[in-house]
Amino acid sequence: MKPAPFGYHDPKTIEDAVALMAQLENVRALAGGQSLVPMMNFRYAMPDHLIDLNGVAGLDMLEIGDNIRMGAMLRQRRIEFSEELRMACPIIHEALLHVGHRQTRNRGTIGGSLCHLDPAAEMPAMMLLLDAQMMAFSVRGARMMRVDEFAIGFMTTALEPDELLTWSAP
Ligand SMILES: Cc1cc2nc3c(=O)[nH]c(=O)nc-3n(C[C@H](O)[C@H](O)[C@H](O)COP(=O)(O)OP(=O)(O)OC[C@H]3O[C@@H](n4cnc5c(N)ncnc54)[C@H](O)[C@@H]3O)c2cc1C
Repeated sequence: MKPAPFGYHDPKTIEDAVALMAQLENVRALAGGQSLVPMMNFRYAMPDHLIDLNGVAGLDMLEIGDNIRMGAMLRQRRIEFSEELRMACPIIHEALLHVGHRQTRNRGTIGGSLCHLDPAAEMPAMMLLLDAQMMAFSVRGARMMRVDEFAIGFMTTALEPDELLTWSAP
């Protein structure tokens, strides 16, 4: 299977990424590609434009202090191997070991998993369990949501078509 033709955009800043999201029609963010690319290959998803987040600076933070903050582009592999995170919140580490395989975790991101919002997926369930806060960003600025406001239905988030998830705080 091959995807339908699409335009590819490779922004380096979050401002450029959301400007593209706002300008273009039928646009999707590309994170680890572990769910989006198979869906495109089966033509369940047919975006006209992909905004690749892999080169965007500042989206892959993992902050552990009084609160935990995970950037949308934080690879699942980094969550798996962070001893600091395992000590701070063991259940995220435990759950992550059930997400796919080593190969998919090498590329897959926390933000991709949360935005894909598969009801069988472990990370959205963890965010609900931990009452996470979710931060979205667009040309209109930043917007904070509770996870129960973010997850509004079957594989459906409250993100507007031109909004990116930037981080989550479980
Ligand atoms: C073989 C296989 C087995 C798997 N098994 C499991 C499993 O057991 N448990 C599990 O939970 N998952 C599983 N997955 C899914 C995996 O966890 C994916 O990594 C995850 O669903 C998507 O993350 P990604 O970074 O690859 O996102 P992508 O595939 O790039 O994107 C997924 C969706 O999120 C959107 N998106 C991504 N980032 C953002 C953002 N910052 N803002 C707005 N929208 C965004 C994309 O546009 C797309 O719609 C599996 C995948 C594979 C291929």
